[in-house]
Amino acid sequence: MSAQDLPDLESFMAGVRKRNPGENEFHQAVQEVAADVLPFVASNPKYQEWEVMRRIAEPDRIVIFRVCWEDDNKNIRVNRGYRVQNNNAIGPYKGGVRFHPSVTLSVLKFLAFEQTFKNSLTSLPMGGGKGGSDFNPKGKSDGEVMRFCQSFMTELHRHIGPDTDVPAGDIGVGAREIGFMFGQYKRLTNTFVGVLTGKGMEYGGSLIRTEATGYGTVYFMEDMLKARKDTFEGKICTVSGSGNVATHAVEKINQLGGKSVTLSDSSGFIYDKDGIHGDKLAYVKELKTVRRGRIEEYAKEFGCEFHANQRPWSVPCDLAFPCATQNEVSKEEAEILVKNGCQGVSEGANMPTELPGIDVFKAAKIMYAPSKAANAGGVAVSGLEMSQNSARIAWKEEELQQLLRDIMKNIHDNCAEYGREDGEYINYVKGANLAGFTKVADAMLAYGVL
Ligand code: NDP
Repeated sequence: MSAQDLPDLESFMAGVRKRNPGENEFHQAVQEVAADVLPFVASNPKYQEWEVMRRIAEPDRIVIFRVCWEDDNKNIRVNRGYRVQNNNAIGPYKGGVRFHPSVTLSVLKFLAFEQTFKNSLTSLPMGGGKGGSDFNPKGKSDGEVMRFCQSFMTELHRHIGPDTDVPAGDIGVGAREIGFMFGQYKRLTNTFVGVLTGKGMEYGGSLIRTEATGYGTVYFMEDMLKARKDTFEGKICTVSGSGNVATHAVEKINQLGGKSVTLSDSSGFIYDKDGIHGDKLAYVKELKTVRRGRIEEYAKEFGCEFHANQRPWSVPCDLAFPCATQNEVSKEEAEILVKNGCQGVSEGANMPTELPGIDVFKAAKIMYAPSKAANAGGVAVSGLEMSQNSARIAWKEEELQQLLRDIMKNIHDNCAEYGREDGEYINYVKGANLAGFTKVADAMLAYGVL
């Protein structure tokens, strides 16, 4: 095959846009991967001849369904549910469920696509999927959330299974929602199997699953620092979000000697110059998981700054951890981070940096860990939860902590190998894309055209 037969990025993306009109988040995620993978494919024609990249960018299957439930005032409510099964070349579909009003097909397709590469990077046998609903759990009673989850699972259970597709939590889906969904699956199928991860410890959950995404994101930064012969000691860290990923990132930053000074939610961010630690961090966890309140209450409780409707990237820092949601770091915010001396960014959230922002980080040659590598610790421990469920055993916390640490180091080293560029600079975006792609692509070649 000659060079002119190979699709360039623009014509490849024109095809993606034509087949998926209006799905901007999906286009963004595919473009970020294709920019690295297409030149790689050009020097490995077997992938090109078998159209592997085009096939990965077309989900295996998408299920869309109605979710009806009754609110506390006896009104009938109607939401939309989805499951995107992107690719199962290397294992059962695996990926979280998101309940948030911003959920659209485009958002879930981007997440399922990203998940395919992320799961490959963990080196565990998991394909990529993602699901969710535009349901907003905020302000709903426990009874309302339960009825919604049961209705959602009544349809979803036909499409998932421990060897088929194993959902987990994500934004708006924590221990409470997983419990309601697992209970309904168990009732409908009369089986007790590891069909969801992130379960409670009483019914098949794994130790450290809750902490794994946030901890893993910080471990990845620790490994990037090590590669530059540096440590967390005394580093000022800004963190966005205040949910599962953000609070556990803060916990690990503190343990490693850094100082976390911000947290946020969709109403604004708090800036605590003295650091968010000890009782203050415990307060945030209780605020967000039990009382389900707003982050502004932290500022009132501890007398620090609250900036309404803003993100924390204007606060000078050494290291930044976007841990809230997609597209929460714009090009301008990336420029401000670099201008203020930020040396590294590790993404706990999925695709939090817009494409032009990524270019800013790469041009400045700061340490930049893209989400598919940096936040893979969560799904890695989910993979370990699946193994424990299959074997009907429970591993000890020390074993799991060590496995998580080893998996994150392995992902870092793998990305560094594929991403090393001129001199010492490591392009972790390229490294993650190529390392993630290769394993999935080789499995797809083995199956022929499917
Ligand atoms: P949570 O629901 O626990 O927390 C989400 C946090 O992000 C909340 O503080 C929320 O604020 C904020 N947030 C959500 N949407 C927006 C928005 N549109 N604008 C501003 N803030 C927003 O979710 P997680 O911590 O589990 O997930 C956070 C990110 O990490 C997501 O991108 C998720 O996909 C990713 N991730 C999570 C994994 C996990 O194991 N949980 C695994 C891998 C990735 P508010 O309360 O105001 O909505």
